[in-house]
Amino acid sequence: MADKIVKSDAEWREQLTDEQYRVTRQHGTERPGSHENLPTEPGTFTCVCCGAPLFEQEMKYESHCGWPAFYTGNDESIGMSRDHSHGMERIEVHCEACQAHLGHVFPDGPQPTGLRYCINGVALAFQPKE
Ligand SMILES: [Zn+2]
Repeated sequence: MADKIVKSDAEWREQLTDEQYRVTRQHGTERPGSHENLPTEPGTFTCVCCGAPLFEQEMKYESHCGWPAFYTGNDESIGMSRDHSHGMERIEVHCEACQAHLGHVFPDGPQPTGLRYCINGVALAFQPKE
């Protein structure tokens, strides 16, 4: 189990940019295409709020949906919950450690999982492989 990271709203505001704060702490969605192109070298995509390892480079694929997409994620770092907002039934994904909102999961991804983790690029940082 990942350690839980709890910070006050003011602390998050201090640490994050306005856009990072809006997306991760207020369940926002970045504009399509704004962070679609993530680094392509080997490494790990981490939570921009707390640094938890969320996705590996090899889990990423080109979905051309306007947001970074992954077909799976690091289970121990990612939590899911049901989201009924906007009149849709969706699965919301968040950082298990700090509860940062990351994006949603849709059942139209490639094999082997058939899932598309549609993630806000602004919620991710990148740690190149050493
Ligand atoms: Zn986090």
